This record gives sequence, C-alpha cells and structure tokens, in this order.
Amino acid sequence: QNYLITRLRAASVDDDARTFATIPSRTSMSHADLWGGAERMAAALVQMGVVPGDRVAVQVEKTIEAIQLYLGTVMAGGVFLPLNTAYTTPEVAYFLGDATPRVVVCDPAKEVAIVEISNGVHVVTLDAAGQGSMSDAAAQMSGFVPIDRSADDLAAILYTSGTTGRSKGAMLSHKNLASNSETLRDYWRFTSADVLIHALPIFHTHGLFVATNVALLAGASVVFLARYDPDLILDAMPQATALMGVPTFYTRLLGDPRLTRKQAVNMRLFISGSAPLLVDTHESWEQRTGHRILERYGMTETNMNTSNPYDGERRAGTVGFPLPGVQARILKDGIEVPDGEIGVLEVRGDNVFKGYWQMPKKTAEELQADGWFITGDLARVDQDGYVTIVGRSKDLVITGGFNVYPKEVESLIDDIPGVLESAVIGVPHPDFGEAVVAVVVPDGEDLQAQGIIDALADQLAKFKQPKKVIILPELPRNTMGKVQKKALREEYSTLFA
Ligand code: ATP
Ligand code: MG
Repeated sequence: QNYLITRLRAASVDDDARTFATIPSRTSMSHADLWGGAERMAAALVQMGVVPGDRVAVQVEKTIEAIQLYLGTVMAGGVFLPLNTAYTTPEVAYFLGDATPRVVVCDPAKEVAIVEISNGVHVVTLDAAGQGSMSDAAAQMSGFVPIDRSADDLAAILYTSGTTGRSKGAMLSHKNLASNSETLRDYWRFTSADVLIHALPIFHTHGLFVATNVALLAGASVVFLARYDPDLILDAMPQATALMGVPTFYTRLLGDPRLTRKQAVNMRLFISGSAPLLVDTHESWEQRTGHRILERYGMTETNMNTSNPYDGERRAGTVGFPLPGVQARILKDGIEVPDGEIGVLEVRGDNVFKGYWQMPKKTAEELQADGWFITGDLARVDQDGYVTIVGRSKDLVITGGFNVYPKEVESLIDDIPGVLESAVIGVPHPDFGEAVVAVVVPDGEDLQAQGIIDALADQLAKFKQPKKVIILPELPRNTMGKVQKKALREEYSTLFA
C-alpha cells in the first residue's frame, strides 16, 4: 500500500463520477479522471527512470495536470518537489543542485534555460494549459498500481518561503501530510458536500497540502483557479461553501463592492493563514458578509499547528488552539513561560517534518531529539488557551539591550487614525546596536511621520518608540502575502550610519 495515496483516494473511490474540479472557462473533471490522469503521470515518471525516493522537481503554472503530477509522483514512490514559479533560472539552479532530482518538469518557455543548468537530468514540460512533453508522455500510458510506501517514507520536499534567509527544504513524510490533513478535514468539518474555492498557488504548503489534500480527503470538490482573481472568486461564491486564502485575499476582496452578505450567503467557511490577519480585516469582513474568518497558523516544516475553533469563538488577532494531535509550548531561556508571557513557540506531533534536506546541522539545531521543533515564532497564550503569534524571533529588535516586540508597536500604530498598516523593524544604530524604525502605510489620508511619533509618545516606553517613521504607499510582500522585513531592513540599513 501507498500510505498517503490510499488515504487521499479513499473518500472518492466508491463514487468517483462526481466532480472533483470545476475550472471556469475550461471544463470540469471528475474524481475518476483526476486519478486516472495521476496514474498515467506515475507510469510516465517510472518510464523516465523514477524509482522510490527520487525527487521530481516541478516549476510549472497551476493546472489540474500539475495536481496530477503531484499525485502521480507520490504514487510512483517519488518525492514531489514544487518550486515557486517566480524563481529565476539561477535560483532554480540552486534548488536543482541541492535536491538532485531524477526528473525536472518546467514550463516550455523555460525548457532551454533549464536544460542548460540541469546537468543531464531528464527535463520535460507542462504549460499553463496542462500541455507539454510531460502530458504527452502520460497520454501514452494506461493505469498504474501505486508503489508501496510506508508512513515514514518521504512524499515531498517543500522549500520554505525564504522570508528570513535562504529557503530550506523541509522533508515531509506520508504520515506528516496525511495526519495533518485528516485533522484539518475533521476540525473544519469538510465533507463531500463541500465546494472549496482553490485560488492559492500549489508550490506552497497552503495551496498544495492544506487546500488540495483536505478537499481530496473529504471527497469534496474545488473551484480551481489558476491564481487569485476577484471576479472568478466572487462569481464562484454562490455555488461554493469554503474559501482558503492568505490575508491579502481578504483585504483585496473587501475593496470590491460586489462582496456582500448576499454573495456569501451559501458560504460556510472562510479560512486565513500564511501571514497575520489584521484585526481590522477580521472585523470588516464580519460586518460585510456576516462571517467570522477562521484564522489558523502553520509552516512548511510542520503543516498546520493551531486553528481557531469551528464552533466557539474565533478570536481576531489570535491563531486559536493547538490542533488535536499537536502539542505546543512556549519557552524563554529554556523554561516554559506562564500564560500571557512571550517566548519562542515549539511544537511536537505527527505533523512535524523529518528534518531539513541536506542540512543536518540546521536540523539538529531546530528539531530536537525528543521531537520538539523550535518554530522560530514568538508567541503567547492567553488564559483561555488562544495562541497569538507576535512575530518571528529573527525580527525581534534589541535596542540598547532591551527587547522590543515589533507587533506591540505595530498594533498601536495601526490604531492611529489614517494608518492602514505598519511594519516595525530594527536597523543598525551606532549607540543602541539597533534602532526601532516604523514603516507605515497611510489609509489614503494625509499622514505625517511626526504625527505618529507624537501619538506614540504617551503610550510606549521611550526605548520602544520608533526613532524614525517612514511613510510608504505599500509594504513589500511575497506571493503568500508575507511582509518582507528582511528587504526593509536591507533598504534602511544605513539610516543611522
Ligand atoms: P523561511 O522559513 O524560509 O524564512 P517562512 O517562514 O516565511 O520562510 P513558510 O513556512 O511559508 O516560510 O511560513 C511559515 C511562517 O509564516 C510561520 O513561521 C509564521 O511566521 C508565518 N505564519 C503562518 N501563518 C500565520 C498566521 N496565521 N499568523 C501569523 N504568522 C503566520
Ligand atoms: Mg520559516
């Protein structure tokens, strides 16, 4: 048996004529056709020489065929290794050198360049319409019996987003993926009656594992969108039941007058994650649609760790409770902190990865022998058990020997009239080591840096107050909506030099 595939297929296998995906302006696809195509992909990969444990590196546009390639790779006993479509060829060269895949699948437009950097590895193509030499090879095949793989075998290597440094390859086992998606399906009550709007990229854990695996495990169907598209998302809502998005989906949709209570009346669940959702967005969404967004927290290395409850209070600004089967603790200087105090969050459970690919030292530093993984996120738990992520330990500012948690300052700035959002960073300073700097995005109105400094004067200890406020039209973000503080720190590194 193939541990993950058996589980992903179980919910639809007896009733596989039902729709798996609706693809606006293209077609729809049944569960039977999804899996039939996946089997042909698996057979084609085996013919290309893929043996169990081999990596299949994939940098392609989001298509159902790419989903079939993911499933086919796992069926063939391989390790699926998706790459962000934004990576340039030199960046891809690093990943291929690191991961040494058996097969590389890329867009036809990049084929020549990829062949040049791939050292004789087999390169095939898949385009934005699902066509290419990979699908041609698959079309020659018929049927495939999944190769036996057990719980601890690798199913994927997923690279982290590279927000804090160079991306690391997280090795994820069949059980890591299956157990977490089963937990989420049950926690969020996904069933075969659900229609999930799938508009996230599939090179990241959110779109690939949370959205795709949960839908498959529930035997649900998806409205399959190649990317975030407000027209298509709003069109889909009356026929759909759930949306998974990053915070920018929600802020952008709020800017669209077509988002109304009526449009969302058939929806039962809006889920947000991958980056912090502003309390403001949570509240505006509820006012506009009548729905309280369910925020959850996870990372590439661990899948999902915490979630707000399905029933019960979804508390804005928090990421809810540790999921069933996930243990969480918060430590400072090696000791667990009392409720309400900030420390580094550690998690343990079947969801936690097997280590970083070819980085034994980093793995040993962060994944401890007793199974506790140091997330690098700073968090606190309130007396009701809700977890709040207050930032990353790498973003902590240390100024004149004092710790400043950016989130505390950001929250106060965000409450100042005329402010949309903010990012607080530490930059080198000759006297203080680091100085607090606030980058602030105005809410359309005229906003003065001095006004912000004045507004904070009575609210914060002197050392926490920004030494400089910079007004910008928007914050730099990646495709997952993550604010790129590293880029801001680089940009303003010489402010006090
Ligand atoms: P890298 O590890 O390469 O620096 P990254 O941590 O951004 O990049 P991901 O694994 O994609 O890569 O993101 C996980 C991180 O995203 C978490 O550690 C956390 O900081 C952040 N995150 C995810 N969900 C939430 C959330 N709901 N609220 C706040 N932060 C979140
Ligand atoms: Mg990370």
